[in-house]
Amino acid sequence: MTTHTTRMLILGSGPAGLSAAIYGARAGMKPIVVQGIQPGGQLTTTTDVENYPGFRDVIQGPWLMDEMQAQAEHVGTRLMYDTIVEVDLSRRPFRLIGDGGDVYEGEVLVIATGAQAKWLGLDSEEALKGKGVSACATCDGFFYRGRKVAVIGGGNTAVEEALYLTNHSDDVTLIHRRDSLRAEKILQERLFANEKITVLWNKGVERFVGDGDPEGLVALELRDTVTGELSRLDVEGGFVAIGHHPATELFRGHLELDADGYIAVQTGSTRTSVEGVFACGDVMDKVYRQAVTAAGTGCMAALDAERFLAEVEFEHVREAAE
Ligand SMILES: Cc1cc2nc3c(=O)[nH]c(=O)nc-3n(C[C@H](O)[C@H](O)[C@H](O)COP(=O)(O)OP(=O)(O)OC[C@H]3O[C@@H](n4cnc5c(N)ncnc54)[C@H](O)[C@@H]3O)c2cc1C
Repeated sequence: MTTHTTRMLILGSGPAGLSAAIYGARAGMKPIVVQGIQPGGQLTTTTDVENYPGFRDVIQGPWLMDEMQAQAEHVGTRLMYDTIVEVDLSRRPFRLIGDGGDVYEGEVLVIATGAQAKWLGLDSEEALKGKGVSACATCDGFFYRGRKVAVIGGGNTAVEEALYLTNHSDDVTLIHRRDSLRAEKILQERLFANEKITVLWNKGVERFVGDGDPEGLVALELRDTVTGELSRLDVEGGFVAIGHHPATELFRGHLELDADGYIAVQTGSTRTSVEGVFACGDVMDKVYRQAVTAAGTGCMAALDAERFLAEVEFEHVREAAE
């Protein structure tokens, strides 16, 4: 068992955690990033990324994250292959335990553990992820310009995704297992008023159907949730929009979470309910969920953390002088 100490401890190595590391390292904080089970975060699970600024051509998600990681290390970040399983935020330095028993102590803590999209859990969904099946219309909608697409879900996210997709497609189908939506009334009104969107009620996806070489989504096999009847809907894009799981279990009871389990932060900052603990990226953002916004809030968290520590350390110096 080893104890690793740092001024700035960062959990998570997606765009939020690595951006916080780059800013933290350049502010002399000598950050440690504990990477978790998905080094590089969610973008390592995708291929084409076309909306991260700075690149004229389409880039690959894993390549972008390799570059961010290299940049973070280049400016002085230590990257640890470990996953935090226990936290003590009751006093500073904060003390966190890795799954092999290593201890991590940080004067400040930046949480960037992300949020995972919920999936339907079908084998065919897994096989066609990135080949027509997606959980992010903002990320991937552009690749389906002029094609038939479907959104699966009935909450706010599903309705927002369907509306967003009408920027690219004139033929969007919203598929919902029930006969009414959970989404807010105003979103429903916009949905029903949009001529590009058709709603299929009482239908669940039984199978994502792939074909072609290279294989891509060509249709959805649907089962009527009332009659049990099977039907087929030809689409080239299938967007699963049934919610996200923020990775916050570890912090339940230690930090204030909002009603959906995201880390609550003060408006306009990354400060959490515990002084010296900051949160950035998808773990505190259920609205935008993009790599660039995660990176932006990662930068904010590092700056907030650096200012917090500077204030605390100045107080110590002043008290000692009195
Ligand atoms: C398939 C797919 C395609 C996407 N395409 C795009 C796109 O084209 N453009 C775009 O802008 N966005 C895209 N996104 C969204 C984007 O990936 C996310 O918004 C972004 O990655 C969020 O960054 P983050 O750093 O907050 O969290 P994440 O990227 O989710 O990273 C979370 C990190 O926390 C770590 N972690 C979790 N728990 C622990 C723990 N207990 N201890 C230590 N570490 C832990 C994980 O290992 C991981 O490194 C896509 C997402 C997916 C899934």
